[in-house]
Amino acid sequence: MTPIPPKPDHTHDTNLTSWVLSAETETDFPIQNLPLGVFSLNELGPRIGTAIGDQIFDLSQLDLGMDQTIKSALKQPTLNALFALPSSQLKALRLILSKSLSDKAYAETLSPHLYAQNICQMHLPVHIGDYTDFYVGIHHATRVGKLFRPDNPLLPNYKHVPIGYHGRASSITVSDTPVVRPLGQTLPPEALEPIFGPTKRLDFELELGLIIGTANELGSPISIHEAPQHMAGLCLLNDWSARDLQAWEYQPLGPFLAKNFHSSLSPWVITMEALVPFRGEALKRAVGDPNPLPYLTDAYDQAFGGVTIKLEAHIKTKAMADQGDDPIRLCQSQATHAMYWTLSQILTHHTSGGCNLRTGDLLGTGTLSGPETSQSGSLLELSQGGKHPFDLGNGEFRRFLEDGDEISFTARAEAKGFKTIGFGECRGKIMPARSV
Ligand code: CA
Repeated sequence: MTPIPPKPDHTHDTNLTSWVLSAETETDFPIQNLPLGVFSLNELGPRIGTAIGDQIFDLSQLDLGMDQTIKSALKQPTLNALFALPSSQLKALRLILSKSLSDKAYAETLSPHLYAQNICQMHLPVHIGDYTDFYVGIHHATRVGKLFRPDNPLLPNYKHVPIGYHGRASSITVSDTPVVRPLGQTLPPEALEPIFGPTKRLDFELELGLIIGTANELGSPISIHEAPQHMAGLCLLNDWSARDLQAWEYQPLGPFLAKNFHSSLSPWVITMEALVPFRGEALKRAVGDPNPLPYLTDAYDQAFGGVTIKLEAHIKTKAMADQGDDPIRLCQSQATHAMYWTLSQILTHHTSGGCNLRTGDLLGTGTLSGPETSQSGSLLELSQGGKHPFDLGNGEFRRFLEDGDEISFTARAEAKGFKTIGFGECRGKIMPARSV
């Protein structure tokens, strides 16, 4: 049986326009996007909104003929209650938002609920109970593996089982929260004894974050066919890493303090509904690669489990900021070309032993680097393990991040015949370490 493709509807129509004029200019947030987030402004406490052009439309006070369950979920200070609703209700909300922000008849009554994004403060969109980070970026895994095992970069399990580890939810912050250089234990090269001090190999990791929608019960795995119904949407995730701490501490239990000091999440959740036009074939496995085991195999997922998202990372060093220069692009990659395992496969695998995922949980994809070195989503790759400083093109070089460096991620979903939608930004600036 040929799988039926996910079907765009009139909310995705490229000709649909908004009465919010800034949505009709070059923007990440045209009427076709309608991402969900949490913002506050002065005396207005954290509340749910959608980004439209350069504005935020406040959804917390709305009564547009919505179901009572949607209305009460929209009054919460996080998106958890909303994302716990069945996907049919999220779709109903999208239809209402699309109608309200496109039909000029609503402009007068709804304009008072718009706030300029640049005066609002953004918050984490969901309360994140648990965070798991995967390692699905095969080009990242291969390039990093090559630094240690030139002839055999990928470990034997990589193509059979989605690799991941349990991360730390408490230290995830919304974009623009400063990132303090962590202290930690390292074994410097040639040294006989470890030392404690600031990391010297601070890095970024360019990732997508999948926000879990409806939960599953403990002991009730989610099948690969059901997986899409449990996804609320995607954000940009910077999984900051201290490579020197990692090298010393990771055996035998895997990453620990090298990863848990801080992660940054973009404020807008791009809903799976908004991403429908951008779904397509998952990465094709190379001839000779093993087939995934049956519980990770699904014809629909292979045909439409990919998502065409172009990712970029930029750096603005202190020198660039002082001179008023624009940031410099470090890399550009494309999610589907990077992901050896799909979103459905990681979600399914996570629950396959009986683990329950809860609404608002965050699954990181792992660093999404492309096949070329210039498409590397980390400095570890761009500087080849710190051996070849990366040329920023302005007279500056980077092996790893320095204090004052600001890293920002952007992403755009693109498909022929559809309006491009963006993710906004995920930003973080490196602050000096605390004193030892
Ligand atoms: Ca990571």
